[in-house]
Amino acid sequence: MAERPAYPAAHPAEVRVVSQRFGDPRAATLAGYLDTGGYQALGKALGLNGGEAMAPEAIIEEVKKSSLRGRGGAGFPTGLKWSFIPKGGDKPKYVLCNADESEPGTCKDRLILEHDPFAIIEGITIAGRAIGAQRGFIYIRGEYRYVLDIMQRALAEAYAAGYLGANIRGSGFSFDILAHTGAGAYECGEESALMESLEGKRGIPRLKPPFPAISGLYGCPTVINNVETLASVPPIILRGGDWFLNIGLPKNGGPRLFSLSGQVQNRGVYELPLGFPLRRLIEEVGGGVLGGSLKAVVPGGSSTPIFTAEEALGLNLDYDSVGKAGSFLGSGGVVVINDRTCMVRFALRVMQFYRHESCGWCVPCREGTNWLQLALTRFHRGDGRPEDVDLFTDVAQNILGRTLCPLGDAAAMPILSIVRKFRSEFEDHLHGRPCPFAAESSAVPVA
Ligand code: SF4
Repeated sequence: MAERPAYPAAHPAEVRVVSQRFGDPRAATLAGYLDTGGYQALGKALGLNGGEAMAPEAIIEEVKKSSLRGRGGAGFPTGLKWSFIPKGGDKPKYVLCNADESEPGTCKDRLILEHDPFAIIEGITIAGRAIGAQRGFIYIRGEYRYVLDIMQRALAEAYAAGYLGANIRGSGFSFDILAHTGAGAYECGEESALMESLEGKRGIPRLKPPFPAISGLYGCPTVINNVETLASVPPIILRGGDWFLNIGLPKNGGPRLFSLSGQVQNRGVYELPLGFPLRRLIEEVGGGVLGGSLKAVVPGGSSTPIFTAEEALGLNLDYDSVGKAGSFLGSGGVVVINDRTCMVRFALRVMQFYRHESCGWCVPCREGTNWLQLALTRFHRGDGRPEDVDLFTDVAQNILGRTLCPLGDAAAMPILSIVRKFRSEFEDHLHGRPCPFAAESSAVPVA
């Protein structure tokens, strides 16, 4: 068995819930997981520890009470999502764990998958019990191929010990989980594209409605949650929704994992209470900006609108505060940008990613990302025209809200905010003038 990766000790500001077993070698095996409090939540939900089993509705109510919101990007309330699954009916129901973590700036689900696989399995099983499902799937990002081995070993152990399969530990509840890898498409992180891919088809999104709760995998009612979301469920069931809620803020329950990257001293993944000040994340937890002073911050992965330093330093990291300030907490990928970074180059790098990942299904996304990449490349090398700056905004606005899936918005939103907030830098590139940061921006590579 591969050795568990080492993991740094907690920063004093951290509240480790989902990351409680990171770096603990015991979490690699079922015996070690049980030794560290694992499966107590499922025991409580199924009445395995001598108590009464929780009714499925009671599990959903506890998750609602916790104000757990999706940790993948959209931030939708998890308990509410589960409650949309119709009761009864003759179709099977499914739980999907979205482990297709691909948002640039985000690397936190990977740590849960590596360090605490049984917590994900337990979370999926409890979700299955809550919605009346008998089968779950873990869809793992293609580039995380090694994670499939970790999950399959954990699944095999869980089956062997009766924590999965028929009549789990004599509870009368049966549940199966299958782990599956994607093939490297960012687009398959979108829930309906993920389901298409899992069904063996090309991973392109479906028109909505119907939403997955009514017609998801194989046309059946389906709940799809992010890895961190599902790994948060066992502690919520074990310690109560109120306990989790009180770590964070009203409607923003719990801590969450933040991936801190970019030009900052202590890059890494930190579990912090929702509402934590961004200034403290950068200065105190992150150890300060590297190579200059703060120019800008991406708050929730590359698809989220950017903040200037001034905006960022007054911001608290919870869904509602970041939303009110005009962006999204997204996947919790905080990217720090210093004042020696060229924002035209940064915009180009972002667009290269989305142009590459566009599935090509709808015209505004396919053509718009391609055109923006070409125009930003020309502009950055010094062949810009004065009208280009407004044209970038115009093209991005013609992508925004006009595409089949959120990838179009994900491409348009950062460009719109970068051009609006750093327009003077775009103007500096005009008239053939060389990029003033050309020698300094090597941290933002442009192919
Ligand atoms: Fe594909 Fe882009 Fe349209 Fe999404 S928005 S369906 S990625 S072309």
